[in-house]
Amino acid sequence: WVKESGRAGFRFHVPRKEVDLLYRMRLDHDMRQALAQGRFRLHYQPQVELGSDRVIGAEALIRWRDPQRGEISPAEFIPLAEESGFVVAIGDWVLREAVAQAAHWLSRGLRMPVAVNVSALQFQQAHFVQTVADALRESMLPASMLELELTEGVLLGDADEALKRMQALDALGVTLSIDDFGTGYSSLAYLKRFPIRRLKIDRSFVQGLPGDASDVGIANAIVQMGRALGLQVIAEGVETEAQRDFLAQAGCHEFQGFLFARPLRPDEFEQRVRPRRHVVDAAVSGWLGLA
Ligand code: C2E
Ligand code: MG
Ligand code: MG
Ligand code: MG
Repeated sequence: WVKESGRAGFRFHVPRKEVDLLYRMRLDHDMRQALAQGRFRLHYQPQVELGSDRVIGAEALIRWRDPQRGEISPAEFIPLAEESGFVVAIGDWVLREAVAQAAHWLSRGLRMPVAVNVSALQFQQAHFVQTVADALRESMLPASMLELELTEGVLLGDADEALKRMQALDALGVTLSIDDFGTGYSSLAYLKRFPIRRLKIDRSFVQGLPGDASDVGIANAIVQMGRALGLQVIAEGVETEAQRDFLAQAGCHEFQGFLFARPLRPDEFEQRVRPRRHVVDAAVSGWLGLA
């Protein structure tokens, strides 16, 4: 690790690989501690229907603020958790938390389906279907209020087993969607065979719209294929009106992206979705002398 650096003497040169390893071990340790200490949170990003401007659902996205490091992106720690297998424990927590949140909203008169990201490893657990059924039963949430976002990676393993599992989830009444569609390896045959209800066009194909010719081609192809197969299609990462307008004319009517809303804390989400109800609540509290 010690490297000569000319006449100036010696300086430490720690190979990149070792830095990564130490960093990753530390992050893995902290991640386990964070789950044990209840430091993870879920934020919810509205999914919006064009025309009505209605919020038709919410994607649950994990958030982790570490006292020392600050906010750590799931894009950084989820892949690591996938490698170590810890993503299964995180995923169980996310599932229970999101289902409990939707049940809580429902008990307050807000009917908001939630979409939960499921990593391939989590999906491949023998007890996954049971875990989902248990979470729904414990919170008394109707299965129709839960959507599971799978990635094309779940299809890479045992496809027959994956099919059985999806059929069992479908029979429960849960909605299945394919996240980051177009970035993986799924074939059209899978879409026909599997009980998938919805495709999420990956942000990477939305980004270049409407100027980039290949993004235009890919987005059009996904929307048309989705339609032909009777699937719902939602675009993720929509940031500009030009992107939204292009997608709308292409036939995509559901959107998720910063143009509409960022992922929000549950209380922010609720306020965003029904500001009028809050005003009424406040007024009623006022009349009752509670304010
Ligand atoms: P994803 O499931 O594709 O989630 C969408 C990501 O895009 C989220 O990033 C969201 O904040 C971001 N996003 C939404 N709209 C826009 C936009 O208009 N512009 C841009 N630039 N980004 C937008 P986030 O929350 O950082 O999550 C990153 C990824 O981490 C997720 O991608 C998902 O693969 C994974 N992830 C997040 N939460 C969970 C979880 O609870 N479980 C699992 N297994 N994976 C998760
Ligand atoms: Mg997702
Ligand atoms: Mg996605
Ligand atoms: Mg993505």
